[in-house]
Amino acid sequence: MFRILYKCALVTLIAIVCSLLITGSIMSAFDMHNKMGFVIATICPLTITPPISLMVFRQSERLRVTLLQLSQVMLQLEETNAKLLEKASRDSMTGLLNREAFFTHVDRVRRQIPGSLLIIDADHFKKINDQHGHYNGDGALTAIAHCISRSIGENDSIGRIGGEEFAVFLATEHEDEGPAIAEIIRKDVTLIEFRTPENEQVPLSVSIGGVIDVSTGAIADHFQTADRRLYEAKRNGRNCVIVKPAMKTAA
Ligand code: GH3
Ligand code: MG
Ligand code: MG
Repeated sequence: MFRILYKCALVTLIAIVCSLLITGSIMSAFDMHNKMGFVIATICPLTITPPISLMVFRQSERLRVTLLQLSQVMLQLEETNAKLLEKASRDSMTGLLNREAFFTHVDRVRRQIPGSLLIIDADHFKKINDQHGHYNGDGALTAIAHCISRSIGENDSIGRIGGEEFAVFLATEHEDEGPAIAEIIRKDVTLIEFRTPENEQVPLSVSIGGVIDVSTGAIADHFQTADRRLYEAKRNGRNCVIVKPAMKTAA
C-alpha cells in the first residue's frame, strides 16, 4: 500500500508541475498576468490525479500479484507434469522402466553409446505361482528385478518389458562384456535366497537371449533376434545364456 501511495504522490506532483508549466506558457503567450490561473492550475491536478492514479495503481498491483501467483501455479504444474511423466514411464511393481519407455530410451541412447541388448525371462514362473501363490510370485519377480539391477552398471538401463520378462541395455563397446555380464546376471539370480513367509525356499533362475552391438540397424530387428535367442536358451534347458553379435544366427 505504501508503494501505491508513494507512486500516487509522485504522479500528482508531476501533474501539478506540468499543469503549472502549461498554464504559465499559455498565460505568457497571451500576456495574461492572473495569479488565480496558477491557483487553478494547482488545484485541478491536485484533486483529479490522486483518486485516478490510486485506482490505476491498485489495479496494476492486483495484476502483478495475480501474475506472480499464476507463474507459481505454472511452475507447480510443470513439476507435477514431470512427476506424472516419470510415473507413467515406470512399472509400479518393480519401479523399472516399462516396455514402451525402455524401447524409446534404448533407441535413443544406442546411437550415442554402443551397447548390447539382453532379454531376460524368469524360468518356469507359472509353476512358481502355482506352487507358492501369486503374492509370493510377485515377491520373487521383485527380487529378480533387484538382483539384475545390482548386477549391471550405472550407465546401463533396465526395463520390465512383460510379466516375467526384463530387458537390459549394457552400455559397453567391448564385445565380450555383453555375454560376460549376462552370465553374471544368470548366476546371481540362481544365488537369490528367496523364501516365502512360510520359510519355503523358492529356487529362481532366468534364461537370457541377447545381441552384441545394437548401435546400428532397426531396434525391432535386434529385439526379435534377442527374443529368438532367448527361446533357444529355453530349449537348451533354461538357466542358460545365448548372447552373440547380430550377424550370427541363433542356431
Ligand atoms: P518359461 O520358463 O518357458 O518362461 O516358463 P514360464 O512359466 O515362466 O512361462 P509362461 O509364459 O508359461 O508363464 C509366465 C508366467 O508368469 C505366468 C504368469 O502368471 C506369470 N506372471 C506374469 N506376470 C506376473 C506378475 O506380475 N506376477 C506374478 N506373480 N506372476 C506373473
Ligand atoms: Mg518365463
Ligand atoms: Mg515370458
